[in-house]
Amino acid sequence: MKKEKKEKKVIKKITKNIFLILIVFLILGSFFSLFEIGKTKETKIQISQLIQEIENNKIKKIVVKDDTIEILTLDDQTQITYKEPGENFIGLLNDYNVSPDKIKGLTIDIQNTKKSIWPDLLIYALLPLLFIGIFFYYFSRQLRKTTQKTFSFGQVKSFKTNRQENKVAFKDIGGVKEAKQEVREIIDFLKKPKKFTALGAKIPKGVLIVGAPGTGKTLLARAVAGEANVPFFHISGSEFVEMFVGVGASRVRDLFRQAKKKVPCIIFIDELDAVGRIRGGGLYGGHDEREQTLNQILVEMDGFEPNIGLVIIAATNRPDVLDPALLRPGRFDRRIILDIPDIRDREEILKIHCQKKPLVKDVSLRKIAERTPGFSGADLANLMNEAAILAVRQNKKEISMAQILESIEKVLLGPERKSHIISPKEKKITAYHEAGHALVSHLLPHCDPVRKVSIIARGQAAGYTLKMPREDKYLHTRSEFIDDLAALLGGYAAEKIFFGEVTTGASNDLKQTAHLAKKLVTEYGMSEKIGPVAFTQNKGSNFLNQQLINHRQFSEKTAQLIDEEINSLISRAFQQAQKIIQEHRTDLNKIAQLLLKKETLERQEFLQIFKDGKK
Ligand code: ATP
Repeated sequence: MKKEKKEKKVIKKITKNIFLILIVFLILGSFFSLFEIGKTKETKIQISQLIQEIENNKIKKIVVKDDTIEILTLDDQTQITYKEPGENFIGLLNDYNVSPDKIKGLTIDIQNTKKSIWPDLLIYALLPLLFIGIFFYYFSRQLRKTTQKTFSFGQVKSFKTNRQENKVAFKDIGGVKEAKQEVREIIDFLKKPKKFTALGAKIPKGVLIVGAPGTGKTLLARAVAGEANVPFFHISGSEFVEMFVGVGASRVRDLFRQAKKKVPCIIFIDELDAVGRIRGGGLYGGHDEREQTLNQILVEMDGFEPNIGLVIIAATNRPDVLDPALLRPGRFDRRIILDIPDIRDREEILKIHCQKKPLVKDVSLRKIAERTPGFSGADLANLMNEAAILAVRQNKKEISMAQILESIEKVLLGPERKSHIISPKEKKITAYHEAGHALVSHLLPHCDPVRKVSIIARGQAAGYTLKMPREDKYLHTRSEFIDDLAALLGGYAAEKIFFGEVTTGASNDLKQTAHLAKKLVTEYGMSEKIGPVAFTQNKGSNFLNQQLINHRQFSEKTAQLIDEEINSLISRAFQQAQKIIQEHRTDLNKIAQLLLKKETLERQEFLQIFKDGKK
């Protein structure tokens, strides 16, 4: 795809050049023809006419230039005529019997114009040659470039940051204290290697940063380079892999060659899992392009002394699929885990991303951090950017809390689709559906509190019920999951009870319910009948191999039991949701009616419906 684009670009460039040269030719051509037109202003006459004019005394001056006779008449007209080559002009007049008196009375200027051939040669021969030369020069240059590109795909187009530009420091990263601590000694080593070598200490060659997407893995690697003030070679794992076998390996060699010339420096390989997956799946005979690339990485990592000042940092969010050879001591033996930030870290990250944004005084970053559990650093950066865009759209000079809260929902659920028109019937179904979710979530003790219910379409959803945990949670209990299952089915149950049938609106809820129930049974050991057994599949190689090799590691009987348990969890959750809705039919009605009226209910308005406000 990339190559096709490049070829197209080259062809476009060549066509552009040809076009330019043609235009130059055209301009010159028209210039010369103009020149010619300017020259042929005189009227052409016959010799006999000239004789006539001489006889009638109409001539002011005659200029004879070789065979050309230019005539200026008394009324200032220029005429031109020609004599035979080598013929004497006076002789010619005599031949025509012009009287000698008339000849004497004429002003005749005979000019000997032995014209230089150079201007003609220059204009008619050399200039076109020059243009053809320029044309071929451009053409061959383009061709050379294309050929160079074709043969250079074994070279790596790694992105090298200069020491000064794009410099990231630790102050630009919020939270991740332990990770910063871990990399500090690498920075120390890159700054003062002698301190370590004097004691015979070997600095780790490879550091693997593991973390969910957007947790700041690239940022941390950049900060190490920034703090140590060394060059930073940045390449993504997927850039090694091309259509041609052997290119990846050659790129790895080239990358290490480039980096070794710049030591001390850092090589950063993003998405290491793209090339570093477990080898030998068996499907491709063990010699596919990816495996060769990985082998080359392993070889290169062994091939340099630990203390030459080259540190390789890699990032991945799938450490489970990496080849064990990559993780053994001497390669990526240092692991740094970046977690999803907790409330304090979120506040710090928000502070960093608010630095250049004017905020209204009442904005509390702590409150925003409270409202954003589960947000990664990238989500928070995106949130502040969305809030700034919203403020601009509303012509505000500063960003207010309301805009930030609105942006949280946008980041979570996608943009509001207020213009999305639905029929009154569908609106009613959506209102009862969301009221079902909200009611069941509110009345079950282990569900997160409902923060907002809305029937304004957002992203893919026709409506939404927003729940937020009171605090950051890292562990989840079985009771929470069981209540969540019932809350997920609250919308489905409400549709069934109030309208007698269900709609496609519940399909996403059903998917989530099935997924959660399966996890409870097969991964978390939360099924009473099956007990503490995990049936997760070995995530060794790519999904195709995985299916072939690890397909089902349990018996038919267990599979049946798993299915039964999943079904039983779901049907119990559904019954519970139905029971709650039946018992609190009036409350659900009230929520749905209020939703139809107001479209969105904030937590306080929602709680108002339940007079005693349980949560
Ligand atoms: P991926 O796995 O998708 O490559 P990543 O973990 O490498 O993601 P980064 O590219 O480092 O994530 O982060 C993306 C953006 O998120 C950064 O440019 C930065 O603006 C923001 N960000 C992430 N984590 C932090 C943090 N701890 N402090 C400040 N900003 C952060």
